[in-house]
Amino acid sequence: MTSPGDTRLALKIDIDTHDGLARGVPAIASCLAARGLCASFFVVCGPDRMGRRLARLLSPDFVRKLIRTRPVRVYGWRTLLSGTLLPARPVAAAFPRTLRALVDAGHEVGVHGHDHARWQDRLPRLTAAEVSAEVTQAATVYRTVLGTAPGGFAAPGWRCTPQSLAAVDAAGFAYRSDTRGAYPYRPAAEGRVFRIPEIPTTLPTLDELYGRIARRPQALAECILQGLRPGQLNVHTLHAELEGGPHLDVLEALLDGVQGVARVVRLCDEATALAPATLPVCSVREGAVPGRAMPVALQGPSVSAGT
Ligand SMILES: [Zn+2]
Repeated sequence: MTSPGDTRLALKIDIDTHDGLARGVPAIASCLAARGLCASFFVVCGPDRMGRRLARLLSPDFVRKLIRTRPVRVYGWRTLLSGTLLPARPVAAAFPRTLRALVDAGHEVGVHGHDHARWQDRLPRLTAAEVSAEVTQAATVYRTVLGTAPGGFAAPGWRCTPQSLAAVDAAGFAYRSDTRGAYPYRPAAEGRVFRIPEIPTTLPTLDELYGRIARRPQALAECILQGLRPGQLNVHTLHAELEGGPHLDVLEALLDGVQGVARVVRLCDEATALAPATLPVCSVREGAVPGRAMPVALQGPSVSAGT
């Protein structure tokens, strides 16, 4: 239950890669368990083609970011070559027991797309049928692995189009977390209002801050905590490969610092408490956020008080 003055922090943990699920997720889960906290994990349900997407993205901006965030230390060579020189490995389907253990421990597990690289790099060029197939294939793998229908969908790379918003509506998810913004809403694009509520990420990510704002774990955690808005839902996206890997100390500092400041919540519980018919309707547009090379979907101004 929420009450006035109730400051909440949802930890949205994206699992982009095979190694992120193999090694990063158990590290994050034990960090949360030590503090009795639960989070929302979103897993890629198809192949790990991280290497393919890095190869395609060698723009000057992206290279600067790679140098800043040191990808070999974060991802390892096997992941960086996955889908290029070495075959792509499955993500969710490779570790059903790890995912079931998350659910058994009280965490939420949602869908982070099927082929992350394809979605993030090519979404606007995919046909409506191809986008729909990405969403339904992911949901099918999820059901096979966990035996239930997924409730939450989180778009890879915070990218969405009218076609992807419609595909998530059609697939019957309870809510989505596709964009960067300020408060829950129903998305609108190209004159259409979509049914499934959107709960946006409100805070900057570690890779957007690292090396640009701070490097020390304590300073990075403080920077994130300073962005918490009192009495509201705040959403912070983490990556299994980063906070579950070389930056576990940032997560530890964040979880220690949040005690007494905000209540750590799961996105699925926040979604259940929403009344979709009364949510504001906001346009979705693509734009830049500081520290991120690729454009992302942003919550625009409210276009009506709800329909
Ligand atoms: Zn991702």
